[in-house]
Amino acid sequence: MNLKVDQSTARAMNRRLILNLLRENGPLSRADIATTIGLSGATVGFAVGDLLTEGLVREGEPSSGATGRRPIPIEINYSGLLAVGLKLMVGSVECVLTDLSTTPLITRIIPLPDQSPETIVKVCAQAVADLLAEGGAPGARITGVGIAMPGIIEDGICRRSHRFNWTEVPLARMMADVVHVPVWVEDDTNAFALAQQLFRLGRHHKTIGALAIGAGISCAVVIDGQVHHGAHGGAGKLGHSTFHPEGLPCECGRRGCLQTLFSEPALLRRWQAATGAAATTTRHDMAEAARNGDSTAIGLLSEAGQAIGSILATFANIVDPEVIVVGGEAVAFGDLFFEPMRQAMLEGCLLPPPPITPDWIDNSWAQGAAALATRQVFNFEASAGAVRLS
Ligand SMILES: [Zn+2]
Repeated sequence: MNLKVDQSTARAMNRRLILNLLRENGPLSRADIATTIGLSGATVGFAVGDLLTEGLVREGEPSSGATGRRPIPIEINYSGLLAVGLKLMVGSVECVLTDLSTTPLITRIIPLPDQSPETIVKVCAQAVADLLAEGGAPGARITGVGIAMPGIIEDGICRRSHRFNWTEVPLARMMADVVHVPVWVEDDTNAFALAQQLFRLGRHHKTIGALAIGAGISCAVVIDGQVHHGAHGGAGKLGHSTFHPEGLPCECGRRGCLQTLFSEPALLRRWQAATGAAATTTRHDMAEAARNGDSTAIGLLSEAGQAIGSILATFANIVDPEVIVVGGEAVAFGDLFFEPMRQAMLEGCLLPPPPITPDWIDNSWAQGAAALATRQVFNFEASAGAVRLS
């Protein structure tokens, strides 16, 4: 094996070191970049010059008030590259066009007539074309398309998705064959974790848990800044931990999994059944009822928080994360849900438990998908994505 690092590899590593430093710290002068990374001023000068030419960084305004020659801050040009993120759900796909930091520029939700791979590729390809036609300024460059969906995903292939009833679907390749840009596919909670690690709360941590409670329950694992997939792409599937062996059937074919009782739709369904609330009520109605003292809603959220917290404590005892970031639709339930979870963690963790920190906006799923496409700019170990066979 040839371990020699050639010149182009060294340049690629230097530029990514610089981009990541700017991503984590914000604008810095060339001299500060050189000092922090430990490269010569000339090397940094060349690398920054290349990045300026490519439009990935730009020069900011020198700080006012300083005397003498004021250093010019270098910052990432987040609008220099666009990405498309697609989050597949049963019945619809959430689509975003984002900048390099996955900040949405355009968002839309498109219904899916069925959930066959062929239909989904067709709908998604049209969505990509429409988003780029509407939001892509002339000359705008796109880094690629990221697709997030619940399942066990390896190398762009959906090995198994119980929710979509797919087995061995080469989704990245199918999509790349029609959209003509690189395509990445990832489990939705792993994609959420990646966006957290790159651009949000996880930026300043090496080891995090990214708990997502929506239609399912998962806790993605980020270790040393990398999303951990496990040996078969199945890491983090917390929601399929058995809670009641004789319980309700789960989408995975087993019984009594945690998510059969405590996913967001399961909680809402149980609240509606117990109180007679209309089937059209939403999680927001249930959250409001809980805040107004509805004992059924409070009891359900407390039971869910304790149950998830106790399993999360085991997770924390194994992984030892610095923080657990929480996303997913169930974040709407607020502290009546999170406080019992924190209490269960306190009881179940060997060490003082990591903080449980909600960080969620409506577009977070699709932003995670877009992060699949923007990560390659920052991570030289990222896969190149599927591209169309010529
Ligand atoms: Zn299950």
